[in-house]
Amino acid sequence: MNGLDIPLDLRLPARTARTFAKAGIETVRDLLRIAPRRYYHWGALTPLSTLREGDDVTILAEVVSTSIVANRSRPGVRCEVQLTDGVATIGATFFAKNEYTLIPHRKILTPGASMLFSGKVGSYRGRLQLTHPNFEGAEGDEEQIRRHVDRPIPIYPTTAGITSWVISRAIGVVLDTLTEDTIPDALGAQLRATYALASPLQAYRFLHQPEDDEQCALAKKTFAWEEALILQGALLAARRGARALEAPACQVQPNSLVTTFMESLPYELTQAQDEALGQISADLSLTQPMLRLLQGDVGSGKTVVALAALIQVVGAGYQGALLAPTEVLALQHVESIRALLTRAGILGGGLIGNEEGNEDEAPPRTGSARAAEDSTETSGANPQARGVEVRLLTGSTPLRARREIHALMESGVPMIVVGTHALLSEGVSFGNLALAVVDEQHRFGVAQRDKLRVMGPNGRGVHQLVMTATPIPRTIAMTVFGDLDETRMTGLPPGRTPVQTFLVDSTNASWMERLWQRAREEVDGGGRVYVVCPRIDQDDDVPDGDEAEARRPPLASVNAVAHTLRGLPVMTGVSIAELTGRTSNEDKDAVMAAFSAGTVPVIVATTVIEVGIDVPEATMMVILDAQQFGLSQLHQLRGRVGRSDRPSVCMAVHRHEMTDVGRLKLQAFASTTNGFDLAEEDMKIRQEGDVLGAQQSGRRSHLEFLSVRRDAGIIEKARSEAERIIEDDPDLSSHRQLEWEIIERSGETLAWLERS
Ligand code: ADP
Ligand code: MG
Repeated sequence: MNGLDIPLDLRLPARTARTFAKAGIETVRDLLRIAPRRYYHWGALTPLSTLREGDDVTILAEVVSTSIVANRSRPGVRCEVQLTDGVATIGATFFAKNEYTLIPHRKILTPGASMLFSGKVGSYRGRLQLTHPNFEGAEGDEEQIRRHVDRPIPIYPTTAGITSWVISRAIGVVLDTLTEDTIPDALGAQLRATYALASPLQAYRFLHQPEDDEQCALAKKTFAWEEALILQGALLAARRGARALEAPACQVQPNSLVTTFMESLPYELTQAQDEALGQISADLSLTQPMLRLLQGDVGSGKTVVALAALIQVVGAGYQGALLAPTEVLALQHVESIRALLTRAGILGGGLIGNEEGNEDEAPPRTGSARAAEDSTETSGANPQARGVEVRLLTGSTPLRARREIHALMESGVPMIVVGTHALLSEGVSFGNLALAVVDEQHRFGVAQRDKLRVMGPNGRGVHQLVMTATPIPRTIAMTVFGDLDETRMTGLPPGRTPVQTFLVDSTNASWMERLWQRAREEVDGGGRVYVVCPRIDQDDDVPDGDEAEARRPPLASVNAVAHTLRGLPVMTGVSIAELTGRTSNEDKDAVMAAFSAGTVPVIVATTVIEVGIDVPEATMMVILDAQQFGLSQLHQLRGRVGRSDRPSVCMAVHRHEMTDVGRLKLQAFASTTNGFDLAEEDMKIRQEGDVLGAQQSGRRSHLEFLSVRRDAGIIEKARSEAERIIEDDPDLSSHRQLEWEIIERSGETLAWLERS
């Protein structure tokens, strides 16, 4: 019998077991997986005669007397204990609402009992005393006690009113009944030996009853390993599952749409683009579904690579989808796709009118004639003859157009659909989807990717290309995108000068004046300027009653800054627009169009412009209260400029006073424009738990021990071990426990990744 599956009521007194059951802790496993929140150290013993007020001390003393007395001036009772070490005496006091709470104290702190007490020395009416000290029985000789004092004491999160002490005792009872061979082992003896990990029983003992800090560390390392192996196993299993499907093989034929497209591009692909596209194109020509992550720095030109892939698929007679994180970005994609396709003469003629519901803006129909000439095939469904149909589908697509697009999608006619994630959730079905591209979105989780994978008709597989907004560190790529193959694109298109970055202290008035003057010069020179603020309104998000916060000058807000700029003499005659999450979609489009055209050359915005926006004329990025933004966000914002051969600048305006982390972050930001380097730097600077943006505190169950920041080494090794295991034993028939954990826990694992 698996010792971990034993119900707690077979191990603990019925009442205790019931209390645990109410908190959802029903088996030995549930109990043993309660991870200590931290460990308490008794510290060295201090003789009573040397105590001083304010010291944190541990004393070994004998109880002289214990009495419970009612408080005089306030409700409640207290337990007063007199202690002695034979030389001096001290009092200890425990306050409580009523006598019942003090029952354990009275029971344990009996006269003559030898106990360890620890806490801070205070004083009351001129006499030293300990208030609410921790205490524990101390039996045995001096040597035993000293060893005991050195032991870290686990402190558990109090769950549903069960105290740390009760948990600790119950775990002790349960641990005593376990033997090595009754604990199933997902890691296996071999891995435990290779990586010097604890055995299954040892790991639990060292976690809950460590003798020293090394044992704690070994337990944590062992559990981190276990989590890493299960996580990688789950990702590889997801990948195997996806690979088990068949996707359409989309080969590139001579004279196909994609060759026409490539030949007509207004620029040469960079070497990195060429290589990435080579890989993707080869993937697409196989029936094994592509599962690929395209990591490229901001501005490295991922869109055109994705577009070529989509056209390859359409050229082979299938449908492709491009998912963007925002409507603005989806719209921008559609526009640039149409522009490039028009240039190539292969934009589809519009099968049933266009989705904007506005016939006079229908795209030019130059495509069909030329495509028909090129075509050597006779089939009426030959996509080459028709060109590439492109549709935009977002939350604000009018109903009539939406219905038409749905009908087209369902009919399976070859086309590209560009949309936001709404595309997935609407119950829309594609008749013939072969490729899904997810752009600029690292919050698109494994489960969503899993969903995409089965969006082909009749359970057919779908090729997948995921593109990140900014490079992400290797360890994160391995955990969050561990089910995907990775392609990296480094380097920018030729002719770009790296954006110059300046840190500006906002209290430096002459710098600030010079900054706005520079903005004016950029505008006069035909450039465009973004000004980014962390807030929309002056009074957004000021926590109530936080006085320190209220006294500080408010964070830069779009409304206030736009107002100020409009009043600056240096900005006279310059149109300034605002753009925030509250701007309506229509207005957003209008503002972006005016900005692009140059009639409104300055935009004051929130981070809505963060991702993807591509206006080559933009040459200046001003980020106000830059300390408020994350490093990858800053990099992403900076990526909005420097998108042509014009030299560009980024001004990161920050507060005079900053946290150390804030300062490090901005220094790193200014020191390099290489997103891959910044990503690694970011990981070093960030606080624990912050890296995946995940709230990891307060969670009782899994993935408590693995940290993407600290455990890069473990994650990498676990990855290759998981690969080896799955290669040698694809059905995991000799790794049953690992298989079980993967299935049992992958829901949680995936949820954990989901929050990342
Ligand atoms: P990102 O990788 O950040 O999504 P984009 O795909 O938006 O970058 O490309 C950035 C800009 O670079 C666009 O204006 C695009 O037209 C241009 N571009 C892409 N590839 C090249 C190239 N090989 N040569 C010149 N310009 C390019
Ligand atoms: Mg992009």
